Amino acid sequence: MYRTRLEALARRSLLRQLRTIDSAPGAKVEIDGRRVLLLSSNNYLDLATHPRVTEAAIQAIRRYGVGAGASRLVSGTLRPHQELEERLAAFKRTEAALVFSTGYQANLGLIQTLAEDRTAIYADRLCHASLIEACRLCTAPLRVYRHRDTAQLAGLLRRGGPSRRALIATDGIFSMDGDLAPLPELLQASEKDGSVLVVDDAHGTGVMGKEGRGTVEHFGLEGRPIVQMGTLSKALGGLGGFVVGPRDLIEYLVNRARPFIYTTALPPSLAAAATAALKVIEAEPERRTWLWNLRHRLRDGLRRLGFDTMDSASPIIPLLIGDADAALRLSDSLLAHGIYAPAIRPPTVPAGTSRLRMSVTAGHTPEQIDYVLETLAKVIASDGRLKERLTHPRSPSP
Ligand code: PMP
Repeated sequence: MYRTRLEALARRSLLRQLRTIDSAPGAKVEIDGRRVLLLSSNNYLDLATHPRVTEAAIQAIRRYGVGAGASRLVSGTLRPHQELEERLAAFKRTEAALVFSTGYQANLGLIQTLAEDRTAIYADRLCHASLIEACRLCTAPLRVYRHRDTAQLAGLLRRGGPSRRALIATDGIFSMDGDLAPLPELLQASEKDGSVLVVDDAHGTGVMGKEGRGTVEHFGLEGRPIVQMGTLSKALGGLGGFVVGPRDLIEYLVNRARPFIYTTALPPSLAAAATAALKVIEAEPERRTWLWNLRHRLRDGLRRLGFDTMDSASPIIPLLIGDADAALRLSDSLLAHGIYAPAIRPPTVPAGTSRLRMSVTAGHTPEQIDYVLETLAKVIASDGRLKERLTHPRSPSP
């Protein structure tokens, strides 16, 4: 039965397969014995291999071992967890922080807890799967609004009746489009309404804002009533999730959030690594400047080649293609030239919007970005169908 289903997926160019990498997630990685340029990592600040970050993890393993040995509330809260939570709260300029084992679990725990006494949940259509999953698990009804459409959201809220205490959920930077949520408008809608605004800043943390504190800093909204979650797995280079916000909320999550309570604590080495990563982010702002310069170089070059990079406002740059099959072909052509940029297809993105998702990191060089652009120019020149698609783009299905 599963074989038939897998074959059906393959016929529609929707089969997904694991690809094994034999090296650290740097600018270049080893795949099938070849060194290829990696353009799909969320290791935005190249901290996964930073000597101070890896050394902090090694020291913590020596001192605390490889596992926390218990869930946080039992005996799994070790000194590195507590230090990380203090550092995260200071970095995000909030009262308190709570670390979860993954960002996915942070979203599940946060949303389920916040939704307890809410009449409805409103979520952007392109919110990350973990956020949507979290909303679906709640008893409060879920209403999905069109991507970044605050007018539609306002209408839905109005129709919700007078005694709304809604939960509004959005990504700060959307993971597949790389665009920014309209946080000022969303905050206004939530404040008017007695609702709470939750921002998943997995991709904004370390990247957005003058000091890298995320999309809330980017919009100058620090200190305003926004509950943020984030991950330690992207710009911070490791693994883990977190929520930052008012102390009472954090304490309540410790008591209520099941994905926090009923799972083994994050390994202390990863907590120590994340603390070291936050210190590097503060001490080496030039990493972010370098990242953004590369990002502009790639985005501008892609546009010159005719690619639709959608509304990317971050180091995540989609190359909108449309058909899953065409996106796969382009990805394969790039791999033949030593560039790994996987095709992103439904159900990760809506049908008709298959794309290559390129992400730039501070580990890249301008020469590598130029190589990508030169290679794409060659691929376009040799692929009539792709050339046609770029000169006469079809609008994606809604
Ligand atoms: N939110 C967003 C927007 C993400 O992109 C991701 C990871 N892809 C997550 C949450 C989940 O984070 P983690 O990988 O730490 O579970």
